[in-house]
Amino acid sequence: MISEEEARSRILEKVRSLREQTVPLSSALGCFSARDVFSRLPLPAFDNSAMDGYAVIVSSCKKGQRLRVTGEQPAGFDRELRVSSGEAVRIFTGAPVPAGADAVVMQEEVTPDGDEIVINTDVEAGEFIRRRGCDLAKGQRILAKGERIRAATAALLASQGFAEVTVGGEVKAAILSTGDELVKPGEKIEPGQIYESNSALLNGLVKRCGAVVDSVEHCRDEREPLLEAVKRGIKNHILIISGGVSVGEHDLVKDALHRVGAQIDIWRVAIKPGKPFLFGSVALSSPSPQSSPPGRGGREAPGESSISATDCFIFGLPGNPVSAFVTFLQFVRPAILKMMGASNLDLPEVPAKLTVDLTNDSDRVHYIRGKLEEGKFTPVGRQESHALFGLSQSNALLRVAVGESSKAGETFNVQIWD
Ligand code: AMP
Ligand code: MG
Repeated sequence: MISEEEARSRILEKVRSLREQTVPLSSALGCFSARDVFSRLPLPAFDNSAMDGYAVIVSSCKKGQRLRVTGEQPAGFDRELRVSSGEAVRIFTGAPVPAGADAVVMQEEVTPDGDEIVINTDVEAGEFIRRRGCDLAKGQRILAKGERIRAATAALLASQGFAEVTVGGEVKAAILSTGDELVKPGEKIEPGQIYESNSALLNGLVKRCGAVVDSVEHCRDEREPLLEAVKRGIKNHILIISGGVSVGEHDLVKDALHRVGAQIDIWRVAIKPGKPFLFGSVALSSPSPQSSPPGRGGREAPGESSISATDCFIFGLPGNPVSAFVTFLQFVRPAILKMMGASNLDLPEVPAKLTVDLTNDSDRVHYIRGKLEEGKFTPVGRQESHALFGLSQSNALLRVAVGESSKAGETFNVQIWD
């Protein structure tokens, strides 16, 4: 049995970033930028009006003043107008500010009178003008290599005229659940059987990372069908197997992995729940998903640091749902993120006050499932590896080291995943 830290570092040493792809912006959400990206334009690109109103010169614009309206400047085309003392130009939101003007008066603050307006307010210099470059300078870094592309990032790239972005490779995953007792949801269940739920869990977790779920299969605890299912699964960048990695006679996963020539690097980690966790790799069987056209509708970009995938990484998660959940987050998630080119592989952490005393007197680091609410962390449900309901009610994990005792009222960082 090795420590959680060692398991994680061995996994991360082994997995590599996939080859970069240049994809349309619309396909880049959830991907990680493969480059530092710099702005091409200042934002705003020109001085423009923040309101529908009148462009004026402040020094000739006291409250009660009459101004002659000499023109109109809508958004979309610069009419190159000019405002002189005693004059105003009708202007609309986003329209370029005419030369000479140093403020915009909202239309609600004036009384129109023929081709004149009367100003009903005090006007300050610069009011309602959005200055060129006040949000963003040209040449400023707008996206860091390894940063996730979110909706707002995509919007910023679009605002700079980028139609495409170069991102880390697309990780394709196969999910294989094993167990004779498992029945597909929707089908008839017999006494002693349970519904198969890990596929739903892992499908959600894999997608949440931004990877693609290529196949979801269930297999009975039988040597030959399991071998065939593993052979299919290792055509992907990663194969996630749930169940069958313990020490019982029905735990046949290791045997199947040996038979396909996989190297098993890790088996059993000092983590609770999740001890029988397994990690290994095997040469990627053809057709390599790397050689198929990228699913995001992009093209492969020649990258300096990126390499093509040569191995399929295999994660054997314990069948108990909470064990599968915890080991996925601690070991599979960082591996997927590294393959996708992320710079930050850690779950987000926030400080929280414990509401109960906790002690870990086991020989394994313990991940407590709990509810984080208003800065307080409270364990929820049964802290047992089968207790799926408690897991479903939780939104945070507290890591309690071996031998650690924590008192109610103390503050700890907890991990969040949603
Ligand atoms: P195993 O790791 O195969 O020994 O399974 C440990 C426990 O997890 C057993 O109680 C299984 O019934 C349960 N289990 C295994 N796979 C799944 C699954 N895909 N969905 C729900 N429970 C499972
Ligand atoms: Mg089993």
